[in-house]
Amino acid sequence: MNISRLALVAPLFLVPWPLLEISSIPAPDPTHEDVARQVFYAVLENCYEEGLSTEDVKILLASDQGSGAPQHFVPGCPLCLPVQRALTVYAGRPKLPGTKEATDTFGTGLSTSERESLRTSDLETRLSVLHDFVERSMQRRITLRRLTPEERRVVQSRLDDLREKGVAILKGLIDGGFSGTMAGAKSCPSCDGGSGH
Ligand SMILES: [Zn+2]
Repeated sequence: MNISRLALVAPLFLVPWPLLEISSIPAPDPTHEDVARQVFYAVLENCYEEGLSTEDVKILLASDQGSGAPQHFVPGCPLCLPVQRALTVYAGRPKLPGTKEATDTFGTGLSTSERESLRTSDLETRLSVLHDFVERSMQRRITLRRLTPEERRVVQSRLDDLREKGVAILKGLIDGGFSGTMAGAKSCPSCDGGSGH
């Protein structure tokens, strides 16, 4: 940095820190879209943290033959979509440079019992794995973000709204004669898990 540039920047260093703080300006409340994006980040981050295998993620992302409808997500659901997107991004992840083994994740994967549950023909058993994973992901993110009780309340209220929409969409599909795998679901795992239900 030359002297003239330094002269321009120098006055900033003389400003007392408290005057530079912006924490007194309240952040706007997150919108439903903001919260849905938090679900995306939460799931993507936790895929890496838990180190899900690509094989397991592909089971979660499986589609019905013919219709192509997702087997474990509600089409058009505002909370299923960010979970599906995060799993899709993770499934296509590149190798991480910097190690001899060229790893592509951090954790050791789902537990043996969860991996077995994913491979059963029982839909509710498979959905419970997705539910618990999404729930852990959101809990982890909310804890890491250290939200105030009021911020948590707003996020929870947005999640509840989105879940309500998702559950209504699932009911509408079933009532309308939807015949995909998810027609056999009692509820939406991403909606319930993401909103802590
Ligand atoms: Zn859903």
